[in-house]
Amino acid sequence: MRAIEISAPGTVNLVERPHPTVGAGEALLRVRRVGFCGTDLSTFRGANPLVRYPRVPGHEIGATIARLGPGVDGDWRVGQEVLVIPYTSCGACSSCRAARANCCARNETLGVQRDGAMAEFIAVPFAKLLAVPGLSLCELALVEPLTIGFHAVARGRVTNDDVVAVIGCGAIGLGVIAGAAERGARVIAVDVDDAKLALAALCGATDVVNSSQVDLHGTLQALTDSHGPNVIIEAVGSPATFRLAVEEVAFAGRVVYIGYAKAPVEYDSKQFVLKELDILGSRNALPEDFARVAAMLGRKQFPVDQVVTQTVDFAGVAAAFQQWSEAPATVAKIQLVVGED
Ligand SMILES: [Zn+2]
Ligand SMILES: [Zn+2]
Repeated sequence: MRAIEISAPGTVNLVERPHPTVGAGEALLRVRRVGFCGTDLSTFRGANPLVRYPRVPGHEIGATIARLGPGVDGDWRVGQEVLVIPYTSCGACSSCRAARANCCARNETLGVQRDGAMAEFIAVPFAKLLAVPGLSLCELALVEPLTIGFHAVARGRVTNDDVVAVIGCGAIGLGVIAGAAERGARVIAVDVDDAKLALAALCGATDVVNSSQVDLHGTLQALTDSHGPNVIIEAVGSPATFRLAVEEVAFAGRVVYIGYAKAPVEYDSKQFVLKELDILGSRNALPEDFARVAAMLGRKQFPVDQVVTQTVDFAGVAAAFQQWSEAPATVAKIQLVVGED
């Protein structure tokens, strides 16, 4: 079968790989749609410490069931359209024991610690499949990236009393905005790109701030009666925005970090104490986040067509990685279409 392999940083090849075998408790999936994740871009750039090469990228999956392995558990049938929860959990680490398998100490995500879905077929355990009637293959492949933001919103305990500032309006930030808006919060979207801010408004942001054009501190203060947002969710992953979240959040506020900063961050730690902040990390997502995103997409109010900015076939994957790497601000979500759409 054909598969996309990132053979080394900067090198993407279309290769032949053996057809996967389907074991007990597994389904063979015909892959139909795969979203490009920022994690895949990091692999392409040689900036993902969790990846060894060669690696088949991709974990945002819309697929159809091609074959059922022995030991089917549940109501699955050949031809059914599904998405895949792309994480593993060991069941034994402290996260798993605390019902927080999303941050399993031994997690392996498809396309990161093990080969992913940019291939014609993959075999996955039934337990990782989710069928969502009413969602298109494009929408099925969009669920996982949106869950990352929904999980961060859950970590921040966002309610309709909150003013939430979201720093960064890439694909992850847009999920945060949709998740916070779904809970009835007032959402201030912050980015340096007007096109992304326009998308943010479509996803439910009530206010948008281009921090390259205005004084961000003054604007956030003006929008919040001089308190600052009481929740800030950081979806950029730079030392400057990590610091900014702690500096701009209100007293007694909550800060949630999604991506980790690619360099050490220097903090004035008195802010942690004087404001008595809750500073929270957020990793991957839980099954309830998947259910919540699937329901949200089922209401057909999320701007799917505007968020998926480009589709490519196998032959176009290498150029798409190159283009995204060179001009990241122009891309919200690219999807690979495998075979006939
Ligand atoms: Zn991802
Ligand atoms: Zn575990």
